[in-house]
Formats: sequence, structure tokens, C-alpha cells
Amino acid sequence: MESVSGEKGVQELKDEGTPVEYIEGDGDNTLIARVKNNLNINLKKRFDKNHIVKNVGKQLYALHHSKNVKLSKITIIHLQKCLKYAFAKNAGDKDALKVNLSALVPHQFGDHSLCQPRFCGYVRSQEDRKTYVHRSLPYKAPLKDEQLRVALESVFKPLADNAEQYADLGSSQACEHANREVSLRAPKSFHYGNTKSLDYRVHATAAFINEGRRYIAEVIKDNCALLFCMNVRF
Ligand SMILES: [Zn+2]
Repeated sequence: MESVSGEKGVQELKDEGTPVEYIEGDGDNTLIARVKNNLNINLKKRFDKNHIVKNVGKQLYALHHSKNVKLSKITIIHLQKCLKYAFAKNAGDKDALKVNLSALVPHQFGDHSLCQPRFCGYVRSQEDRKTYVHRSLPYKAPLKDEQLRVALESVFKPLADNAEQYADLGSSQACEHANREVSLRAPKSFHYGNTKSLDYRVHATAAFINEGRRYIAEVIKDNCALLFCMNVRF
């Protein structure tokens, strides 16, 4: 369903003369394939940062619930924070990101052989290494379970191996905001699909996002009577 409306959107932009080069999202290939086959446009994929962190979180919570390893929620939150930090600090530099991601799990286990001073306090504190503590881990101590290390490596290794895909991440925050705004004006629990009202509600959302609330005064000034007849919610 999303890919059908996505293709329609790309088609409309193309017809208006707007070039579309990137598609941001959760890495769904269906839309890219549809656009390539039906519109003959090669879109490049740009992952969304929040989706990546969320997906890693899902895998980590699956480990948390499995009986084979012990992984606390505190550690999961810390690992997600480290991942976000790695994405933010190495944006645009795939080699630096690869180094950072490869060192992420070993670092938590007190193995700093892959760490660099720019992201590891242990390497930075040359004289004071004995007093270095993992502040965000339980008991401020490095993790120990080797089985857990193997499991965590299996989650983070694909990210490090494909670092070039993650060096240039997008954010779908603006899109999620637009979805939220349109659902306030056209709630799913009401059927507006067969009425013109849906168009006005979506257009009102677009005007609000692009112009802010001052669009209301502008529209009312231009066409007051018509809008009251349409019963548009601002
Ligand atoms: Zn380290």
C-alpha cells in the first residue's frame, strides 16, 4: 500500500518537474523497485536514523527476553545511545563510522584494542587507565559474558560491514510530523475518503506545515464564505 502511494507521489513530483534522487525510510525495497520498473527512475536509498536505532533495539530486546544470555535494559539503552552517538559523530565519513562501529561491542567488554581516542575515554586517559569506569553499564564495570559478546557482535557486525550505507542517514521526523498533523485534521476513525472534505483537510495540513498558522487568516481573507460552507477544521 505504501509503495503504491509512494510511486504516485514520485510520479506527481516528476510531472511537476521536481527531480527525485533519494528515498528516505526504513530500507523498504518495494517502492524503489516499483519506481524503477514503472517510472524508470533509479532512486538511491537513504536509511532513516530512528528506524535503524529502533531495529537494533528490537534485536537487543529479543536477546533480553531469550534464555541464553543476560542483557539488562540499562545496557540496551546504553548501546542504543552509543549507536546514535556513532552515527552523529561520523556523519559523512564511512571509514570513521566503520572503525567506531567495529569497536562498539568490544569496548563494552573492556577490550579497547579497536578503540580510538575520539570515542573512547579509556584510550584518552593514558595515565589513569586503572581508574577508568564504564559509567553507563551496570556496576560501572565492563560486561563479561562471552556468549553475550558473540550475540551482540552478530547484531552490530552487519552495521559495521555496511558502514557506507549508514554514513549518510536521513531523518523521517518531518514526515512523521506531517502524518501526525494530517491525522488530526482527517482522523482515520472518520470516513472522508469519498468526500471533497478530505482534499481540503489535507490541503489545510500542507498550508499549516508550509506557512504556519498565519495561513488561516490569509485563506479567510481571500475566501471567507466558501470556507465556512466547507466546514474545514483548522
Ligand atoms: Zn574503548
